[in-house]
This record gives sequence, structure tokens and C-alpha cells, in this order.
Amino acid sequence: MAVNRYDKDEELREGVNFSYFAMMKKYVSPYAGKLVLCVLSMLLVSVLGLLPPYLIGIALDKCLPEKNYTLLFILGGVLIGANIITALYLRYRSIFANKMGMDIIKDIRHDLFEHLQKLPFSFFDSRPHGKILVRVVNYINSIAGLLSGGFLDMIANVFTLFGIIGFMLALDVKFTLICLAGLPIFLVVLLVVRKYHRRAWQNYSTKQSNMNAYIQESISGMKITQSFAREEKNAEIFDGLCGETKSYWMKSTAIGQLTPRFTAILSTVVLAIVYYVGARAIGANTMTVGVVVAFASYISQFWNPIIGLTTIYNDIVNCGAYLERIFEMMEEPVVIEDYPDAYEMKDVKGDISFKNVTFAYEKGAPNVLENVSFDVRAGESIALVGPTGAGKSTVINLLSRFYDIQDGQITVDGRDIKFATKKSLRSQMGIMLQDSVLFTGTIADNIRYGRLDATDEEIIEAAKTVCAHDFIMEFPDGYNTQVTEGGASLSVGQKQLIAFARTLIADPKILILDEATSSIDTETEKVLQRGLEKLLEGRTSFIIAHRLSTIKNSSRIMYIADRGVAEAGTHDELIERDGRYAELYRAQYKFLEQM
Ligand code: ADP
Repeated sequence: MAVNRYDKDEELREGVNFSYFAMMKKYVSPYAGKLVLCVLSMLLVSVLGLLPPYLIGIALDKCLPEKNYTLLFILGGVLIGANIITALYLRYRSIFANKMGMDIIKDIRHDLFEHLQKLPFSFFDSRPHGKILVRVVNYINSIAGLLSGGFLDMIANVFTLFGIIGFMLALDVKFTLICLAGLPIFLVVLLVVRKYHRRAWQNYSTKQSNMNAYIQESISGMKITQSFAREEKNAEIFDGLCGETKSYWMKSTAIGQLTPRFTAILSTVVLAIVYYVGARAIGANTMTVGVVVAFASYISQFWNPIIGLTTIYNDIVNCGAYLERIFEMMEEPVVIEDYPDAYEMKDVKGDISFKNVTFAYEKGAPNVLENVSFDVRAGESIALVGPTGAGKSTVINLLSRFYDIQDGQITVDGRDIKFATKKSLRSQMGIMLQDSVLFTGTIADNIRYGRLDATDEEIIEAAKTVCAHDFIMEFPDGYNTQVTEGGASLSVGQKQLIAFARTLIADPKILILDEATSSIDTETEKVLQRGLEKLLEGRTSFIIAHRLSTIKNSSRIMYIADRGVAEAGTHDELIERDGRYAELYRAQYKFLEQM
């Protein structure tokens, strides 16, 4: 998978891919009945909208010379009636179109988010999160206009256009042909401009996406930015991204304006020709004033739907670029999928085996693990240690099946995890990552995240077990204390204790823990250690251990290096062996032990 960054444009496709519009069918079809009704009534309303010039023509040529005021009265009545029907219809259409547009957007967003949650880590690893966000929020918003009215306006414009041509033909065929002669010129301009406009808009949306990626990255790294006093440099980078976004926006709108402006000029030229030819025809008595006035009025209206259509066409081109990005993500393969007859992993004991496991993060990349085999008995606690980048996190990623292995087998209680449903596998596992991510809500909500039906008593019990209760009760609001995004208002130790309680309440048989590296005071370390011991009781666990206390208390240590398990045994056994673990211990942990 190609890796993307905030300063790297995403790949653009050539040509509008209309198949993406076809994919909208699924979302639009529930409204098919109402849409057909809406379109049919639009046909009637379009005709009603075109009556005035025709009726004025009759008034000028018949009512006035013949002093037929009854007919004039009837014509007036018809016009008023037509206007009332049109107003009522437009109101209904705007309510219907807005509702339909918003409903469709809600459905697309739902599907996109649902799909996003199934995507493999590799998807999130390979692109800035801001670029994902911009699709779910901004791009979907951008197609809202087209869905809630644009398409219906387009159909209305087509009806109006054909209606006008019909009325003009009924008045005078020769005049009509003069008007239609402008159309081919218009189409040529449209086709030429279209290509450039689409590319410009695609570029704009790409730059917008880059800008979003940078904002997102900057916000999440704000502490580091401020501590390194990088604000000025970052603002400079941001200005550069904003500048690029602005210039592509300007370019795109400038190109987008070309067709409507050209059409406006073309319409004036055609109108001038009609007036000239009409004046001469009136002079030669071959045409009445009423017909020329009605015709001129139709000509002025003739270009309106065409300009409307080009504007909507621009919107469609822009939306095409957005839909492309949205559906591209929807088509992103789930990769780690359940096999057709996947089994439900239930009530496991917790025996775990790696059998000749080989794994690389990407095809062609060097193997991180090669032919790795080990067995862990239920209830054992394994400390994973070793140099950075050796593959400790990889071991736990594979165990939770966040990535599929290329070769070998990983089993739980003797059954291959590959053939278990992802949901049942992960519900047997409690996974705690380095920075215990907490979500917006109360402390109780965050603990309940582990099991949604947990009662308040169970939550307090879990917090007590992992030694979190005391500090929670020190907050004025206790369990109802609000946690800010990511748990910024809590200390590292507090966050970890809440994460322990969250995991305990889920009661998984297998525990996976990436211990936080941040230095914590000895007092907190003791509390954490006690909490952890409670959590580990009766469970199989893998801990990427950074604390000596955790390492010493584990039943076995695996020293990960050279694409596999280089050494394994208890702390004392490994020290006796005087190998790489002993060396690491002497270098790193002895120093800590003396503190
Ligand atoms: P450790 O946890 O021991 O520090 P990891 O298991 O995180 O090491 O990483 C092992 C190797 O795999 C490293 O070389 C690292 O660069 C690489 N790696 C880790 N995560 C990814 C990833 N998502 N995509 C590609 N390579 C990765």
C-alpha cells in the first residue's frame, strides 16, 4: 500500500468515472416512487412556467386589437392559477429534495464509517488521519447540494429547455432554427472547458485534503510543537498548504466561470439577431408584433436552463471528484475478513501457540518474524523484551489478528485463530496499548466501554480490584468526572488504571499489554503493579514490559531479536545463561533497580 503524507498529493484518476454515480443507485432507490411523482409534476409545472410569453403574445395580437376583454380576463386568471400551482409545487419539491438529500448523506456516512471500522491497521498506518476525516465530513457535505436539489433542478432545466423549444416551434420554425444554431458552438466550448475544470477541481480537493492532514497532525502533536518551539516553522508549512489550496480554488472557479460567461455572451448575440430579423419581418408584414415579443421572451428564457445545466454540470464534475474519493474508501478491501465458515471462539482456556510463523508488514518487505515457534500454557504471563524495532508489538498484533501472517499458524486452545470470527477472537482478548486511549465521557462510561451492560456496582468493583477506586473518589465528581478527549486531564498512571478496569470488566481470557514507557513515580508504579497483578490473575498474558517489576513477576521472559525469540526463560534462568537478556538487564534495569 502506497504511503501518503500531508505534503504528498493523492493519485488522481483520468476522466470522470460515472460508475461512481451508478453506485449511488443503492442510496437513491428507496426514494424512486416519490422521485417519479416529483419529476412528473415537474413536467406540468415546466409547461405552466412557459405559458406567460405565449399568452402575452395572444393578448397583444388578439385581445388588444379586437378589444376582447373577456379573453384578456381569462388569460389573466390562467396566469395567476399557474403561478399558484408552481409556488405550491416548488415548496413541496424543496422539502422533499432536502429531506432526500440529507437522508442519503446520512446513509452514505453510516456505510463509510462502518466500513472504516473494519479496515486493517495497514490502511490507517499508510495515510494521514486528516485525509480520512475530510472524506467522512467535508466531501460528503459537498455532495449534499447536488443530492438535495441539484439533480432535480437538472431535470427541471431539461424539461424547461424542451418546453421552450416546443413553444418556439409552435410560434415560428425559422426563428427557432436561428436560436438552435447557437447550441453546437456552446457544446464545443463546454467540452473543451470540462476537461480542465475537472482536473482543477480534483487538484483543489487534493490540496484541501493535504491541508486537513496537516491540521490533524498538528493538533495531535501540539504539545511537542510547543515544547520544541516549532510554532513559526509549522505556521510557515501551514501557510504554504493554505496558499496551494487557495490558488487551486481560484483556478478552478475561474475555469468554472468560463462556460456560463460565454453562454451569456452567446445568448445576447442570438437575441440581437432575432430582434433584427424580427423587426424586418414586422416591417414586411410577415410577422405580428405579438409573435416577435413572445419569441424574444422565449429566447431570453432559452439560455437560462442551459446556464443552469452548465452550473449543475460543474457541480456534477466536482461531485464526481468527491464521490471518487468517498467510494474509493468504501471499496478499500477489508483484508482481515472472516472466512465463510468461521467458528465462534468461546470460553477459551488460554493455551497459545505460534507454529513457524513468518510475517512481513508488506509484500516484498523484509520479514519482521521468521519461522517463530513457541507455546504458552493457559494462565502463563509472558514478558516480551528486546531492542526497539525487534518485533515485540508485531507479536501482539498478530495474536489479535490485526494483520494476517504469511506463513505458519497461530492457535488458541489448539484452533487456528485465522478461522475464528474476528469478533469472537477479539472478545477473548483484552488489549491495552501504550497510551491508554480514553474517550470523551465520564470515567464510568470509559470503564463501561469494556462491557456495555456492566452495572454501576460492577464498574466500582472492577475499579476497586485494579486499585483505581481511590484516585477516582478523590475527584469531586467521582465516577462521573468528565474525561476530555484522549484523557488529557488525567495522568499517565491514572489513565492506565482506568484502562485496567475497562479491560477487567470485559473479562477476557487473554491479556495483551503494551506497558507505558513514560517514567512514573515509585508510588504510582506500586499501585499499577498491584492493579496489574489483579488483572492478570487466571489469564494468559503477553506484556511488552518496560518495568522491572513486571518482568520479574512474569512466568516467562521472551527476548525478541533477530526475527524471532532469541532467548526464553525466567528472569533467573536468563541471568544465569548470561546471554543478551542478561546484558540488557545489566545495562538498563540494574540502574533502575538501584534507584
Ligand atoms: P518493537 O515493538 O519491538 O519495538 P515492532 O514490532 O513495532 O517492534 O516493529 C518491528 C519492525 O516492523 C520494525 O522494523 C518496524 O519498523 C516495522 N513495523 C512496525 N509496524 C509497522 C507497520 N505498521 N508497517 C510497516 N512496518 C512496521
